[in-house]
Amino acid sequence: MNYYRRVIGMFKHCPGAKSIVRPQIIVVECPYCRREVEFFEYEVEVECPNCRRIVRRNPSQSCIFWCNAAIDCLKNLVALNTLTIDRANELLNLIERYKKSK
Ligand SMILES: [Zn+2]
Repeated sequence: MNYYRRVIGMFKHCPGAKSIVRPQIIVVECPYCRREVEFFEYEVEVECPNCRRIVRRNPSQSCIFWCNAAIDCLKNLVALNTLTIDRANELLNLIERYKKSK
């Protein structure tokens, strides 16, 4: 509870925004070659630097894929100069692709 309150205090909007503005690196083991592959926490697929195959992780781990306010949230972050336009567009593309893949 304290954690969420602190994050909201920092950004004055949704706590998930923290993971978009300052994404954590998540290390996943490549299922094909067992090498460690680094994901930003909002990324759902990354090419393995070793075997070049696409490694996927569960997209529901990032709020932008399930939150109904995600698109407004990204626009809001850009308006506040918290997020660059380029990053926002990249994330909007990811959301689009995720919705189409369902
Ligand atoms: Zn691999």
